[in-house]
Amino acid sequence: MITPLAYFTLFVVGIWAYQNNPTFHERTDTVVLRLENYVRQLSGQNTTSKQETSQSQTSTIDESGGGGRWVKNSTTIYIAIQNQTLKNALEDAISQWNNTGAFTFHITNDKDKATVIASTMDDSSNQAAGLTQMSLDETTGHFVSGKLYLNRAYLLNPTYGYSYQRIVNTAEHELGHVIGLDHDSATSVMQPAGSNYTIQPIDIQNVQKLYSQDTASNKASSTVASN
Ligand SMILES: [Zn+2]
Repeated sequence: MITPLAYFTLFVVGIWAYQNNPTFHERTDTVVLRLENYVRQLSGQNTTSKQETSQSQTSTIDESGGGGRWVKNSTTIYIAIQNQTLKNALEDAISQWNNTGAFTFHITNDKDKATVIASTMDDSSNQAAGLTQMSLDETTGHFVSGKLYLNRAYLLNPTYGYSYQRIVNTAEHELGHVIGLDHDSATSVMQPAGSNYTIQPIDIQNVQKLYSQDTASNKASSTVASN
C-alpha cells in the first residue's frame, strides 16, 4: 500500500514544486506519470486488492496527464544505470528505436545536457517493471523533460523469469512513452501488459503520425484514430 501512495505523493509534490517555482511554472503545467503494471500480468491469479489500488491510482494520474510529444522527433538521454544487464538492455532498446528512423535518442555523457534521465528503482511492492514520468508544457503540448526508471526488483529477480529480450522489450515500451506513445491493445510494444513484443510496424507508424503533425491540438484525434 505504501508505494502507490508514495508515487502519488511524488506527483503532488511535483505539482507543488512547479507552483512554487515561477520560472518553471511558466513552462511546465503537467506531469504525465505512467506506472506500469506488467508484473500484475505475470503474477496472473495472484491479483490482490493492493494491485487494484495501484491500477486505479495510475489510471487517475494518466488521465490527468494526457498525451504529449517533443518538438522534434529526437531527444537527448543520460543513462544513470550501473547494472550491466539493464544498461545493455536500455542501450539495445535505444538502438532499436533509432533504427526505425522515426525517432532518434542521442545518448549523452553529460547529465546537464540531457532532457531525459534513465535510471533504476528497486521496489518490490509496486507491481511495476518500469516507470515513465514526463513533464509537459500544456500550452504547446510539448515535453520539456522526462524520467525513465527500470525496476530492478522485478527485471533482475529470477522469480519473475524475465529473459534478456523481455527486459529489452520493457525498455522499448518505456522509451515509447518517452517518445509520446500511449498504450495500444494491438500487437504492439505499447501493449499495457508489456514485454511480450518488441517494436512493431504499427508502433513505427504511430510515431511517424505523431511527429508529422505541427500542432498539439491535432494530436488527440490522431491518437484516438491510431488505436
Ligand atoms: Zn506503459
